[in-house]
Amino acid sequence: MINTTFRFYGNLNDFLPKAQRNVWIAQQMGEHAAVKHPIEALGVPHPEVDAILVNRAPVDFSYHLQNGDRVEVYPAEAVHLLPCHLPLRPPTPTPVSFVADTHLGQLAAYLRMLGFDTLYRNDYDDAQLAGITATTARVLLTRDRGLLKRRIVVYGYCVREVDPRRQIVSVLRRYQLGACAQPWRRCTHCNGLLRRVDKQVILAYLQPKTRRYYDDFEQCDTCGQVYWQGSHFAQMAALVESILAQV
Ligand SMILES: [Zn+2]
Repeated sequence: MINTTFRFYGNLNDFLPKAQRNVWIAQQMGEHAAVKHPIEALGVPHPEVDAILVNRAPVDFSYHLQNGDRVEVYPAEAVHLLPCHLPLRPPTPTPVSFVADTHLGQLAAYLRMLGFDTLYRNDYDDAQLAGITATTARVLLTRDRGLLKRRIVVYGYCVREVDPRRQIVSVLRRYQLGACAQPWRRCTHCNGLLRRVDKQVILAYLQPKTRRYYDDFEQCDTCGQVYWQGSHFAQMAALVESILAQV
């Protein structure tokens, strides 16, 4: 057996019991353990970790622990504080795209409303979600820490907030997306792209009042849903403005 100590920084402490937050945690384990295993055993999913130092030297997840090692674990938000670190995964592809877990439907709709490519179905199972993120390099958004610990998940973020308006702000902050938002570009129902459509083409589908009062329409190129700046638009625009003001 070997004796090591771990310390977690920033929002990685969200995953720890109160007594272990922002303090050195003693860990005893078998020899030759890779550093990734005790990090996850303490509660922190590997996609949340962006840098690891052992005895102040940068290492990656494959580092094998030695007796007496002092391990410091950093989230993305704190990496800029380090003079150097080893990348733990390839950079998040840009433009970033997402796949959202089944309990995050409203967050997915908000991401689409702001123009971000987001897959969502309310019947995905865990294996499908992990498979999608592994094969497409989409960032997996979930509140399920166990799902994020799956080996094949490379890019993932544990959504701590419960309120969808706080969730969207936290995701935009995490991936620094405030300046990348392109509202009203995607269909909130299916993630398809919206395109301008001539009123004459869709006239037959419009209610009489919509036909009378509105002239500018867009249509989803995937599901055919028609959008226009109707009576609720001012409310939605205020919501978008308030979300982006907090990022
Ligand atoms: Zn659509």
